[in-house]
Amino acid sequence: GSYVHSHGTTVFLKSHSDQSEDAVAHAAFNEKRWVWVEDADEAYVAGHILRELENGQSFEVALSSGSVRTVSASEIHKMNPPKFDQVEDVAELSFLNEPSVVHNLKMRYLANNIYTYSGLFLVAINPYKRLPIYTEDVVKMYKGKKRGEVQPHIFATADLAYYDMLQDRENQSILITGESGAGKTENTKIVIQYLASVAGEGRGANKSADRLEQQILQANPILEAFGNAQTIRNNNSSRFGKFIRIEFNMQGQIAGANIEWYLLEKSRVHQQSPKERNYHIFYQLMHADSATRAKLLLENDASQYNYIKRSNRYIEGVDDAQEFNNLKNAMDIMGFEENEQFDFLRVVAAILHIGNISVVADRDRADIRDFAVIERVCHLLGVPAQEFRKCLLTPKIKAGRDWVNLARTQAQVISSLEALAKALYERSFSSLVGRINKAIDRNVSGDKLGFIGVLDIAGFEIFEVNSFEQLCINYTNEMLQQFFNHTMFEIEQEEYRKENIDWSYIDFGLDLQPTIDLIDKINPVGVLACLEEECVAPRGTDQRFLEKLNRTWGDVDSKYQRTRFQDGFIIQHYAADVQYCTKGWLDKNKDPLNEDVTRLLAQSSESYVATLFEDYLQEDDQGSLPSLAKLRKGGGSFRTVGQRHKQQLMTLMKTLRMTHPHFVRCIVPNVHKRAGDMDIPLVCDQLRCNGVLEGIRICRKGFPNRLPFAAFKQRYEMLCPEAIGEGFVDSRTACKALLKGMELDPEKYRIGTTKVFFKATVLAEMEEIRDRK
Ligand code: ATP
Ligand code: MG
Repeated sequence: GSYVHSHGTTVFLKSHSDQSEDAVAHAAFNEKRWVWVEDADEAYVAGHILRELENGQSFEVALSSGSVRTVSASEIHKMNPPKFDQVEDVAELSFLNEPSVVHNLKMRYLANNIYTYSGLFLVAINPYKRLPIYTEDVVKMYKGKKRGEVQPHIFATADLAYYDMLQDRENQSILITGESGAGKTENTKIVIQYLASVAGEGRGANKSADRLEQQILQANPILEAFGNAQTIRNNNSSRFGKFIRIEFNMQGQIAGANIEWYLLEKSRVHQQSPKERNYHIFYQLMHADSATRAKLLLENDASQYNYIKRSNRYIEGVDDAQEFNNLKNAMDIMGFEENEQFDFLRVVAAILHIGNISVVADRDRADIRDFAVIERVCHLLGVPAQEFRKCLLTPKIKAGRDWVNLARTQAQVISSLEALAKALYERSFSSLVGRINKAIDRNVSGDKLGFIGVLDIAGFEIFEVNSFEQLCINYTNEMLQQFFNHTMFEIEQEEYRKENIDWSYIDFGLDLQPTIDLIDKINPVGVLACLEEECVAPRGTDQRFLEKLNRTWGDVDSKYQRTRFQDGFIIQHYAADVQYCTKGWLDKNKDPLNEDVTRLLAQSSESYVATLFEDYLQEDDQGSLPSLAKLRKGGGSFRTVGQRHKQQLMTLMKTLRMTHPHFVRCIVPNVHKRAGDMDIPLVCDQLRCNGVLEGIRICRKGFPNRLPFAAFKQRYEMLCPEAIGEGFVDSRTACKALLKGMELDPEKYRIGTTKVFFKATVLAEMEEIRDRK
């Protein structure tokens, strides 16, 4: 078969068994000038050029639908010849344009090849059906294989990470992003399954290691019960991001693991869209055994609870009772004691009861008359009921040097109950992850080889209305894309340096810096810092925050734009311009709690509940403001949402920079969760947002196609046979002569020490000439 080099790998193109059939297809293709034409509905349609008009500024194209259309030159893209059908790496395509990339992905997808490379990326398309490609036999097939020897696969990525770690003694990371429903979490699980399988091999019977691997695998059902929910887009949607680090010892065996979590969607705890659900655990708990339910004071009936009764209650094909058993089983394997398990459930049950506290209005003051519900909540949370009620209705507020009791309105109390439910859930989730880490995070000092970290985090989000949550996730993705661009730059630079060739490759990571600065710079104040300032300002409002942003960034040349009609601003991200609506940002960032209530909880007779709020425990009840006490605690305590996220992201980036990264991009093929159906405009959108097209754009700026001298000579000698002459010449000299003989523009190629490098499409043009000969 023919081959082209790209990024230092050799990939053999599909070899047809029937050479003549191949030739026929090729001849038929060559007879016409095939192109992709941009189309409003389908993104691209195939066609062939009938006539050139206006000196090549536009063309008359016969579309495959039968109609003829006149289109401008900028709306058509060259189609690749059939020998490129279903290439395993789209970077190999002669014509590296968006329609060709998407077409290739589609053809592969329809043939059940859901994985495809795009240079440094592994692209994974959700098949929405079980494919027989994850069995132990397939694991064996991928073990120790090189890229190009086997079909693209997430196993290949995991395997590469594992062997790179063993060989280079370097930490590795696998960064998996994509939209909701794209398959991030499934692929993460598959990576871990693979690592457990290959790293466990040949170890012989080792009870403690087997147990550790089991525990690492069982972390997932626990995390999913508490952190996943059914949404319109995904029946098992992760409502948080995570970074799982698997540690290895000197023998390459799994020695421990650690999980870091990001941005849990708390608002889901008290409200969901009608067709979605709360977190799985709320429904699973309805199926707990009657003794457990009795202790939790719960009925086995979701319609009794406000926080779950207004939305969906069942997921098609999911048995919550069975899931609850799986959860119990996973917690057992994890080594959670019975009382620890109960504590996690206790918080969930308390939240359900909090949702049932009915707050009424007594003129402008709130009142709670159904004391029984309060008693249930307080029984579970281990605090005195009268006191709890008082803190809710008339919390103590510091006024000058004195404390005064202030009556709250109905709306205020309802919102503080919701805030309490959210805080309880998030803190308990954090504690749960901490408890899992206690089980799997073994001390492997001394005998430590390195780790492989797997990041499963939501990709770029652009909704109809984008709020603070979207800013946080898009900021994360901007940073991750910068990391990718920079990695690509370093790899290219290294390759050019090794080959000792002239290069003027630019670090495209720098392109993204202005947007990142706009979000996280301190001086001038970026969006996050500005929000922080406004949150501590005595009379801060969303409006003032926005005005300040407009003043700071609105008139300078930046990635910031004012909006004309809505309360908000526009940020130019690499993926797209996103309009953010700033309504409610101060509250979202401060995430205020009724501190009278949280102080009460910090003194709970239930030690689990008390530890969840220990940052509210006051050292001295006089003098210091509670919020100051909180700040002083620093470290583990929760600051503003923005601060915490920024700090976590910085830590993550620091970790990632110490690793050799591998990039996986998951794609959701359609919005119907249907197998074998690809919505092309939807996929194009994702390729733009997830950086695959950005990667291709960058790739084209350098010298993406490269061939060893001998291979180049062999294949293209016929284009200029007289150039080389008789007798022996080494292949480098031969290549030089050949390129000179072809009179190729010297800017279009570079001659290295072992390879010759070409700008995009140069090889394709040579191929065309070769075909015509
Ligand atoms: P979210 O951001 O909402 O968490 P996600 O990217 O993590 O989304 P997954 O939960 O991994 O998406 O996948 C959604 C569903 O798609 C899975 O529950 C499963 O049914 C299906 N799916 C994804 N990947 C695969 C695969 N490789 N094989 C079979 N089914 C898959
Ligand atoms: Mg997920």
